[in-house]
Amino acid sequence: MEGFDRAEARTYDTRPMLSPPAELNAPTPSTVLDAEVLAHGGLTWEGEFNGTRFARLQGVALSETPRVRVRLSFALLDQRPVVHGTLLTEFELVCQRCLGAMRYPVSEQFELMLIASNTELERVPELYEPWVSNVQRLNLFELVEEQLLLALPLIAKHATEQECVQVAPEVFVDSSAVAVDIEVPQSQQSDAVQRPFGNLRDLLRK
Ligand SMILES: [Zn+2]
Repeated sequence: MEGFDRAEARTYDTRPMLSPPAELNAPTPSTVLDAEVLAHGGLTWEGEFNGTRFARLQGVALSETPRVRVRLSFALLDQRPVVHGTLLTEFELVCQRCLGAMRYPVSEQFELMLIASNTELERVPELYEPWVSNVQRLNLFELVEEQLLLALPLIAKHATEQECVQVAPEVFVDSSAVAVDIEVPQSQQSDAVQRPFGNLRDLLRK
């Protein structure tokens, strides 16, 4: 069982999330999924957080309750559950150039391998991010919240200075109420400036 055969990987559900299914799951922070059953069945779970507060977005996004469409396609790889995930949402962030509000659409994809503990880290193939979890009680909220944070831009900025000029007058009124503190290590700042729309996930993959 050492190593794994790439051919074991299942074909994932990668349909674009354009139109909502007839019945979309409405998860709550306590929703748990049985990833073992889902993975053995090669099943896809799809739902939408709406009105749920993501506490870890506090101080980073203007709204801590973004609507988040989630699709998780489960499969088995080397006897372990893997997840191909897609998140669709839109953040409201603070532009670091004009301190105005800006919309930041997110269409994020990620590949996770579920493991029971950190002792299994070395079994996770390079293409997957490890996710430590009780496989039969996968906490959906924690997973989505973490992936949202990874999808945030390192430095949020309007695409052009013209857009900054347009929004600046109104936002200066209440900008003092918004505390934004995105920590970027000194060594990465110059790179981030050149790539304002790079996110933390990109950084971790380097
Ligand atoms: Zn701006």
